[in-house]
Amino acid sequence: MPRVITRKDHILRFEDFDLQPEILRALTDLGYTEPTPIQEGTMDALLRDKDMVGQAQTGSGKTAAFMLPILDRIDPDSKDLQALILCPTRELALQVADASRSFAKYLDNVNIVPVYGGAPIVEQITALNRGGQIVVGTPGRVLDLLRRGKMILSDCRMVVLDEADEMLSMGFIDDVRDILKRTPWGKQTALFSATMPDPIKKLAEEELHTPEFVKVASKEITVDTVDQRVAFAEGRDKLELLERFIQEMKPPTMIIFARTKIGTQKLADDLKRRGHKVRALHGDMGQGARDSVMIAFRGKRIPILVATDVASRGLDVSHVTHVVNFDLPDEPEVYVHRIGRTGRVGREGFAISFVANKEKPKLDAVERLLKRKIQRWGIDEPVQPLTPEQIAIAEEIEAAEESGEVDVLVVEGESTREATESTVDGDAPKKRRRRRGGRGRGGSGGGESVETTVAAE
Ligand code: AMP
Repeated sequence: MPRVITRKDHILRFEDFDLQPEILRALTDLGYTEPTPIQEGTMDALLRDKDMVGQAQTGSGKTAAFMLPILDRIDPDSKDLQALILCPTRELALQVADASRSFAKYLDNVNIVPVYGGAPIVEQITALNRGGQIVVGTPGRVLDLLRRGKMILSDCRMVVLDEADEMLSMGFIDDVRDILKRTPWGKQTALFSATMPDPIKKLAEEELHTPEFVKVASKEITVDTVDQRVAFAEGRDKLELLERFIQEMKPPTMIIFARTKIGTQKLADDLKRRGHKVRALHGDMGQGARDSVMIAFRGKRIPILVATDVASRGLDVSHVTHVVNFDLPDEPEVYVHRIGRTGRVGREGFAISFVANKEKPKLDAVERLLKRKIQRWGIDEPVQPLTPEQIAIAEEIEAAEESGEVDVLVVEGESTREATESTVDGDAPKKRRRRRGGRGRGGSGGGESVETTVAAE
């Protein structure tokens, strides 16, 4: 039976994980006061040296979830590569590397090197030669560096596969397997994936050793914190509708999603012609152009970004206030990913979808997934109660309990607690403290430490 963690139901604090004080200090600087549920579940497993599968999306706080245990266990006295994180895109690799540097800022001699295609390999080799204990990279470039003998994995003790489903859909799965073959036996492996298609389950079965499964119940990230709306418009009318939306809402920072690269560029050009400060982000652009757009958007110099799903996948721009779905995506899950760009941890967000007549079946699919209707924008409709969603989460917990496959089910969002409690129903998780055995921690003394484990009955 899984342990259930809800946002309001925190059991562990960052201090409870016995992380190095330098890491805790960095977290304080970042304003992280308590772990998010996925962090709680993941760190608990990783710090017990378990392999783990985390079913979680960007926005849940998964970067810190895997990176804090890694940083805690890097030996700064050795320049060998000790941890490898594989990511599907350059953007995500850079983002993970940046976040990791902010967690590591008070740790001496810990180097994090991002490696990815579309940029000169020579500079990356130079960075590796200087000694990077942590490498964050895309599979193609990592494999290239391994084949050239410029990267050596014989001392790699920790491997993370981030957004594994995305690596699969981008055709990297063979590269990932090839890379894993070159890592030592006995390493610790963590796999994160928003969805669990069969090839990812198979990969986890074959490559991980009796992993713990930490699952974030779906929908929660967005549903509670994002005000979601629809508006109906055909063809060119969508541009007029967008103009009206911008005039009325005056969004400070907005991502507009379009389905195709050409459509994305065209929409950005149209908006530019109308005098808006806007840039496009899609796969037809060169790496330099994509990087400069992201830097400008992150730095809040561009308020509007028009992007395709692939180009923006995994991007964490926590100040995004508004998301516009200029087109609805083919897959309802992608809708959830898109609107997850706003309403990040503890923030409110607003997401609107422009729906043409022919897209109505897609809207139905989204509403089925969310288990609720999305309200019309600008039309006074009675507010939908949250009860169906709470019921959905309760059902998910029940199913997870019955299947017995999930070790930790993480439920995010404030409003889910009642549902969780009613499901757990007097069978509340019991706290148990036990000692963690000496875990090698280079340079920092190590020693025995208290571990808090929670077992559900
Ligand atoms: P991620 O899913 O790792 O991309 O994280 C999403 C966002 O949540 C990022 O902006 C993080 O800085 C932020 N975040 C992650 N963990 C915490 C935490 N424990 N407290 C507050 N914010 C967090």
